[in-house]
Amino acid sequence: MRVTNQLVIIQESVLKYKGHVTIEEVFKRAKRRLPQLSLATVYRNLSRLVAELKIGRVFISGAAFYEANLSPHMHFVCRKCGGIEDIQMDKRTHPIYEVIEGQGGSVTEFNFVALGTCKKCSEKGQKR
Ligand SMILES: [Zn+2]
Ligand SMILES: [Zn+2]
Repeated sequence: MRVTNQLVIIQESVLKYKGHVTIEEVFKRAKRRLPQLSLATVYRNLSRLVAELKIGRVFISGAAFYEANLSPHMHFVCRKCGGIEDIQMDKRTHPIYEVIEGQGGSVTEFNFVALGTCKKCSEKGQKR
């Protein structure tokens, strides 16, 4: 019972967050409701939620970010401000789905990350 409750609270800590959240942020949020919580428990539960396709995960420069957005999408990361943008895409138009599904497999995680300078930071640079 207690374990289930932990899982639900950890899941909510990700789903209520707009955007991409690190394990440390999930830990901080969930700990308010579960004072006994350990970082190892958060890590274990997050991995389980990802495996069960209840939350999304993306690796950016080696760090894991968790998110509510489960649809296949790419990420654009600004190197200047660190902002992470979801780039929605139609899975049928991406060749990887065609290739993998053509082989009889299926894609469950989509970890494509593009780095660059976001619109805001580009505009700031031009004004100078
Ligand atoms: Zn930026
Ligand atoms: Zn995302």
